[in-house]
Parts: sequence; C-alpha cells; structure tokens
Amino acid sequence: MTTARPGDELVFLPLGGSNEIGMNFNCYGYGPAHARKWIIVDVGVTFGDQTTPGVEIILPDPAFMEEHADDILGIVLTHAHEDHIGAMGWLWPRLKAPIYATPFTAFLLREKMRERNVLDQARITEVPLSGQIHLGPFEVQLITLTHSIPEPNGLAIRTPLGTVLHTGDWKIDPDPLLGGVTDQDAIRRLGDEGVLAMVCDSTNVFVDGTAGSEADVRETLNELIGSLRGKVAVACFASNVARMDTIIRAGQAAGRKVSLAGRSMFRMAAAASSVGLLKGLAPFVTDAEAGRFDDDEILYLCTGSQGEPRAALSRVADGTHPHVKLGRGDHCIFSSRIIPGNEVPIRNLQNKLADRGVRLYTERDHPGIHVSGHPCRDELREMYRWARPRIAVPTHGERRHLLEHAALAQDMQVPEAIAPRNGDMVRLAPGRAEIIDETPSGRLYVDGGVLTVENGDALRERRHASHSGVLTVAVALDEDGRIASGPQVRAIGLPGDADTPLDEALDELADAAEAAIKGLDGWEREDDHMVEQALMRTLKKAAFRIWERRPVVEPTVLRV
Ligand SMILES: [Zn+2]
Ligand SMILES: [Zn+2]
Repeated sequence: MTTARPGDELVFLPLGGSNEIGMNFNCYGYGPAHARKWIIVDVGVTFGDQTTPGVEIILPDPAFMEEHADDILGIVLTHAHEDHIGAMGWLWPRLKAPIYATPFTAFLLREKMRERNVLDQARITEVPLSGQIHLGPFEVQLITLTHSIPEPNGLAIRTPLGTVLHTGDWKIDPDPLLGGVTDQDAIRRLGDEGVLAMVCDSTNVFVDGTAGSEADVRETLNELIGSLRGKVAVACFASNVARMDTIIRAGQAAGRKVSLAGRSMFRMAAAASSVGLLKGLAPFVTDAEAGRFDDDEILYLCTGSQGEPRAALSRVADGTHPHVKLGRGDHCIFSSRIIPGNEVPIRNLQNKLADRGVRLYTERDHPGIHVSGHPCRDELREMYRWARPRIAVPTHGERRHLLEHAALAQDMQVPEAIAPRNGDMVRLAPGRAEIIDETPSGRLYVDGGVLTVENGDALRERRHASHSGVLTVAVALDEDGRIASGPQVRAIGLPGDADTPLDEALDELADAAEAAIKGLDGWEREDDHMVEQALMRTLKKAAFRIWERRPVVEPTVLRV
C-alpha cells in the first residue's frame, strides 16, 4: 500500500441512508481536497408511501458523485437487499464505475441492470466471499457476516490514513442455516491491527438483547406448521432464502407440497439455486396444480407480507388470485416484521384475510416465527468489543437511531462518535473526526417510469388534485373576444349532495366564469393568457365559497 502524502485526507460522505432506513449510498474519498479518489458502497432505493402518491421508488440524488464520476474507482455492493442495490440500474449510467459484488448479489444485480438496458455497458466483477478488491488507495477486504439474505458482507477498507470497518447490514447469528457464521476472527484481527472508524448499522439500536437465530425460527415454524390442518400460506421476504428454505422443509415434513406465489419468490429461488442454495428439496408445484391436492397437503409461500397491493397475498385476500384461495379453516403465517410505514396496508390485508375466516399468526401473537436481521444492543456492544474503533459513525437509521447509537458507542468507550446527515462530508483522518463540508444531496423519484426531482411539479399537482379535486373550464371566443360557446365547467373529485347538487354548483361556476370574461376589457379578451388567468382566479374563489377548498383549475380557451 502507498503511504500517506502531506495534504491527504480520508473522508466519508453519505448521500443516502443517514437519517433514514433505506436508499443507502455511501462514499469514501481519499487524497488532497482538490484531487480525491472515490469509492461508493451500495446504491439502494427506498419506497414511496402515502405522501408520494404514484411514486413507487425513490433514489438518492447522485449529483455530487456524478460531478466526480471520473474519479470513482469502483462501486462495492455489500449485499442484495433493495435498499443497497435497488438503484443501480437507474443511477449507474451517471456514475459509470466498475462494480464489485459477491455471486448471489451479482446475479440479482445483473437482472436489475438488464431491466434498465445497461447490463452490456457495465463491468461487473464477481468477488468471492472474504475476497479482496484493490482500488487505488483503497484496499477492500470482504468480511462474512450474518443478516437476512445470502452473502452479507462487511468491508474492511484499508487506506494509508487508517482502516474503516463498514459493516453493512448484519447481526450475530450463531446458526444462520445458510452461509457461514459472522467472521469474528477477521473482525478481531482488524481490531488488533487498529480500526480508525466503524460505519455501522443502527436499525435495532433501541432493542435490548440479541436479534435471535434463524435456527430458532426453524424450530418454531416446524412445530407450528406441523400442527395445522387446512391450507397453510406463509408470507415472508423472498430474499430471506434461509427462511424460504425453513418454510419449504417444514411444509415437506408436514406432508405438504409447496407452491410459490409471487414473482419475487421465483426470482429469489433462481438466484439462490445459482449459488447452490435451496438444494435437496422436492420440486415445487405450480399454483394451478396446487388445487388438485387436499387442503392438508399444500403450503403456499407468498410475497406480500407488507400489504403490497399487487403482491400475491393481497390478491388472495381480495379473492382475485386466479389459483390461490384461502377461507375458513385455513391459516396464514406472517414470518416477517412490519416495516415502519406499512402498518396501515398490513392491517387492511390482515382484516380482509380474517374476514374470509383465515386464522392469522404474526410475530406479535406468536413470538419466534420471525427474527430481525439487524443487530440489537448486545450485538452492537459485541461488535465494538471486537473492532475497537477510534471513531463510531452510526448509519442505516433515522436521526433518533443514529444519536442513540452514538451514545451507545460512547458508553463502550469509543473515543469519538459522529452521526452525519446525508450530504455531510466527514473527515475521518488526519485529526479529529469532523464535518468539513456540506455537499448537495437529496432524492430522485421514479414517477411513471420517469426519473424526476424530489417533489417536482407533477407530484405536487397530483397531491393537490387528490386533496382538493380538479375543475376544468372550456370556453370558445371569437376574434374580438366575444363568447361563442361555453363556458363549460366540469369537476373531477368534487362532491355534491341534496342541498348543493353538483350540477347546480357547476352552473354557478359557469356563471361566475362568464361574468369574469365579460368583466375583462376588450384587449384583455383578445389575449388567451389574460382570459385563462381570469378564469383561474374566479373559479378558485367561487369553488372556495362552495366547498371551502381550492381545486386545481384547468382552463382551455379556444378561438373560433
Ligand atoms: Zn439495509
Ligand atoms: Zn439488508
């Protein structure tokens, strides 16, 4: 490794994932301020919610790194969860750096790149577990951890100014069922060598104890599934291949055929078998074939544990799934947690299933049917004892998680703790860790397949329309500005009742519009823009009188 030169600095810059759980995008820079070389760790998405109607995925804004695209030496992916690789297909064309990932992650990454038609241009290098990547001043070594997906890696990033342990997502699972256990020897050795900073998962910092093991879930689910009569559906994250394996084996042990329901179950099953997982199982039956078996002989493994409307389980609950039907005497096990923000859709889903007579099993009433993939407080303490970093940099959390994690690190005698926000550039060395710059950061929305700025005009208008409704007004004027036809007013999403019928309200609005046009001077009426402005002002005012709200007003002026 080269040695540090005067003026060299090592910086950490999160552009996503700090102050939120989702869209991880972390950058490390090395060199003098005017000539830094960069590596990026993870390029993930987050998902839209009720505040972003119609927006399904949200990406970190890469503008700052795009400016430095020529100096990006590589993009290293820690694991294949959407919040770590989901934005690659969208953002890679702006970054254009070589990509490094372990085989399972690379398999799923290639699909994402293919979907966005950028697979042919990208250079994806598969790195073996515990492998090394040489990227200029950065020597990156993968460290096997345990999490809730195959091949989770921490990164030891060695530089001439010190070593960063970037944990990625992890927990300490003594028996993860698939893959190796947490490589604590490697982390301890790193600690002996000296860890400058640890950039670490904060998701479960408010939870005491430990996350628990996949092996315990296997025991609980085996027992539960073995005790049930009638059809059994189990919802879990498809990416948790160990859990899939557990559920499939539990079904088989109970004499059931297993049928996959939901596209991502098939996608993950393919990714898993590409790296030799999910072996030694009886073949799946299709959901169409499943109907031929007795109720006691079938188990469905479903997507949709978060109440996603188009996923298999929602369609089962709505009674619109073409093959999978659940009713009285059947069972649905949620082997998953509620991701914050999804409480309402999950409750709606569960109510619909309950209404069909389906018996429900959730983590709350049946402890042990799910464990988290993130470290709880005892595991965090253990990690600090192994790595002994000089600086703690909490990430992968909301503000409250990051600050609590910083406090925990200080309780563990870590000399320095710093919790940056997205866009804060932290100098890790030389000297004390401090925020030295604020770079542009933000979010991009995928809206109708188009990449747009955060809260752009289209979304703002859609929110406005969904809250207040829309009025359209059309009028035809002749060359001299006299009304030839109309004005005609139509409403979308505005209410009427017996006291104020909607057609009467629209007549009132049309009268107001006509008066507004007639109130304009002759030269104003010859100018389309002036007429449109007058119609908008007048209709907004009149609508407020009627409904006490200000709908979107869309005027059309035609000349005849
Ligand atoms: Zn994550
Ligand atoms: Zn993860």
